[in-house]
Amino acid sequence: MACTGCSDRLGPVTGAASETRLQPSSLPVAALPSHPSGQEVGRIDDLLDEGWRGLRFPRDLEARFLNDTAAERIRRLLLNSVFVAAAFNLFLVSDYLMVPDQFDLALRLRLLVFTPLLFAVIIVLARLNLPRVREGMAAVSGMAAALISAGLCVLSTDVLAPAYLVSLTSILTFASGVARMRFRPALGLDVSVVLFCLVSAWLMRERAPAALLIPVVMTVVATAVFTLYASYTMEKDERRNWLMRLREHLLLDELASANEDLDRVSRSDMLTGVANRRHVDEFLAQVWERARMDGTEVSVMMIDVDHFKAYNDRYGHPEGDACLRDVATTLKRRLRRPTDLVGRFGGEEFIAVLTDTPLSTAQAAAERVRKGVEGLNRLHSASSTHAIVTVSVGVACMRPSAPHATPAQLISAADEALYQAKHLGRNRVFAFGTAD
Ligand code: GH3
Ligand code: MG
Ligand code: MG
Repeated sequence: MACTGCSDRLGPVTGAASETRLQPSSLPVAALPSHPSGQEVGRIDDLLDEGWRGLRFPRDLEARFLNDTAAERIRRLLLNSVFVAAAFNLFLVSDYLMVPDQFDLALRLRLLVFTPLLFAVIIVLARLNLPRVREGMAAVSGMAAALISAGLCVLSTDVLAPAYLVSLTSILTFASGVARMRFRPALGLDVSVVLFCLVSAWLMRERAPAALLIPVVMTVVATAVFTLYASYTMEKDERRNWLMRLREHLLLDELASANEDLDRVSRSDMLTGVANRRHVDEFLAQVWERARMDGTEVSVMMIDVDHFKAYNDRYGHPEGDACLRDVATTLKRRLRRPTDLVGRFGGEEFIAVLTDTPLSTAQAAAERVRKGVEGLNRLHSASSTHAIVTVSVGVACMRPSAPHATPAQLISAADEALYQAKHLGRNRVFAFGTAD
């Protein structure tokens, strides 16, 4: 039986993680979150350990259980209806032998009333998504079959009719063993069948000896008890198995999420949350390859905080860290294109890879970044050039399809541009393209 509800939610465990590997967004790094599926697993463990009352799960799980098992139950219902119709009509042979005076009635009730009604009800129920009604109607069909069988015995004056009451046991064993009726509807069916049997025996007490009626009733009652016990244990097993499968799926789900988190962490810089150097290198290699085939340009900017050593010395390392986080946030805000990647290149140096971006556009973006950091107005009284925190930005652009162009050359060109920006007085953008 498939746990359809949960399997739908699950993607391939490792596939999901690897697909997101080279996405350019800069990702926040937080402690690995605990997943709701973890709490769900704990709840299921409790249920498995401590059990659950009255063959019912808590409301939400019960709905999910009924939903997950619906397809299998409908399949069984449809298959059973064919069985029931065949078996129930086969009893016409017994009717002919044991209650021959009622054979005409039996023929009409079995073939013309019960069978078409059974198929009509089952076709309607299979289309409706009402699990409880479905199970209940299966029990009601059993009761109708029992009523017909018992009624034929009571109406018949044949000497064999009281013994024929024992045929009620076949309805009980079918419901439990073949239809695997769940416990509650089975309880309703079994109690009804025992009642029909008792009432029929009472009505036949004048014409049948107690020595016959008592064993017949006892056989029906014993069968009801045994089959009810079977229904109870089967449903308990079904529910336990379903819970274990659900637990397994949730664990896989949790594992997939944990893999995703780990993957995200492994691609991020712990201090600032932007991409780390490894991720930048992988991303640039990928972007480079695509641009080489498309013939488009790739730009890179190197962003370095000015006089950062002096900042650290004046304000302390923790404040320096806070400053780096602010600069990183500004970079992310100013470079929002989904195909851009902001990363930490090392120390107080950041890098941005701009996909399919000509030099002029990259230069304008770099100016936005520079102004953004300037706009933070973060005091830097130890700076020999400006009284606030500023950055210098070096920009370079290349067309990867150009002969001998490499990502390393692009980075080194941006580095060289950064050097020029520093040299020209800091808090400025310097750019050059080396491609064409
Ligand atoms: P310039 O304007 O020429 O770039 O001068 P600078 O002082 O910024 O450059 P330098 O390379 O001399 O100093 C960089 C400083 O950045 C030195 C180092 O202590 C600091 N730094 C590197 N990584 C971190 C970090 O993660 N946190 C903090 N607080 N400081 C860092
Ligand atoms: Mg610096
Ligand atoms: Mg530096």
